Amino acid sequence: NRQIHLVSRPDGEARADNFRLVEAPLPELADGQVRVRHHYLSLDPYMRGRMDAGRSYAQPQPLDAVMIGGTVGVVEDSRHPGFAAGDAVVGIGGWQEFATVDAAQPGALRKVDASRIPLSAYLGAVGMPGVTAWVGLTRICQPKEGETVAVSAASGAVGSAVGQLAKARGCRVVGFAGGADKCAYVREELGFDACLDYKALPDAKALGAALAEAAPKGIDGYFENVGGRILDAVMLRMNDFGRIAMCGMIAGYDGEPIPMAYPALILRSRLTVRGFIVSEHLADWPAALAELGQRVADGSLRYRETVAEGLEQAPEAFLGLLKGRNFGKQLVKLV
Ligand code: NDP
Repeated sequence: NRQIHLVSRPDGEARADNFRLVEAPLPELADGQVRVRHHYLSLDPYMRGRMDAGRSYAQPQPLDAVMIGGTVGVVEDSRHPGFAAGDAVVGIGGWQEFATVDAAQPGALRKVDASRIPLSAYLGAVGMPGVTAWVGLTRICQPKEGETVAVSAASGAVGSAVGQLAKARGCRVVGFAGGADKCAYVREELGFDACLDYKALPDAKALGAALAEAAPKGIDGYFENVGGRILDAVMLRMNDFGRIAMCGMIAGYDGEPIPMAYPALILRSRLTVRGFIVSEHLADWPAALAELGQRVADGSLRYRETVAEGLEQAPEAFLGLLKGRNFGKQLVKLV
């Protein structure tokens, strides 16, 4: 069983040599255990937080152990009555070819229907990132018909779902993404009303002017994935009593400082700013997955994937995610 371990913690930027490829024997299955062959690994920004020993929104990942992470695969062998060989399952099997799972543990393994929805989508639009979009949008941004919603990292796994779910609720939707290709995709394929290429708008004045044009009536709900100067520009356009869902601040994950320029606007505009962690909103998962699954199956929720081939590619693909080299949900394909 080939695995990728975290062997050292980054000092500043994460690097490929923080990881090592390791070969380990597969243990015999005990009662209650299930063997899963992984088809796809999910690479997610939160993993950067786990690589550090300090406080993050995720627990630190132990050294010399398999990198934790969401996985989809197929059951090869089972000693648990609820699972049989051939079942498609979602789990948290980590960066390895096979996982040996104690299936009785709550949330350890979930059977999914791979006939209606592709297996990989259960790591993206119909998985944790999709539910993140749903929770932050519906519970915190609380969009109403005719309002304007903005979202950063708009072409990504979370952001793409945020914008489409907001469009489905009758909102004007403005995205931010890095590069002309990503912005064209966000507008033309995902149906956002506007998408601003923040890389082509390097100074605050240009970004603010472009945003004023894209959101002429101001912004009522903002879904934050990035932090830094995009947040500053949005704060200046927020309408009174606007809602900001603080979902992620990826611009700061690799150690860069991300100061906030206008905290006084929270008071002046009477904003609600609320952070959330999707794994703490368990009660929302069924409703979220029902809407997301329905929309992916009927084609009204679109998504894109960047797929790295082979376990050994996982570290580089992960570092690329932290640099915005992915375009849509970043996966590693093993089978
Ligand atoms: P994405 O698929 O959106 O990939 C990350 C994207 O972030 C990149 O493609 C890039 O897009 C952008 N990015 C990367 N580095 C930077 C940078 N330095 N400055 C600005 N943008 C950058 O990832 P996800 O959709 O999986 O995650 C999006 C956010 O949601 C992350 O912040 C993540 O931590 C957060 N999250 C939070 C959860 C929670 O429970 N609170 C759960 C899941 C995710 P571009 O090229 O357009 O800049």
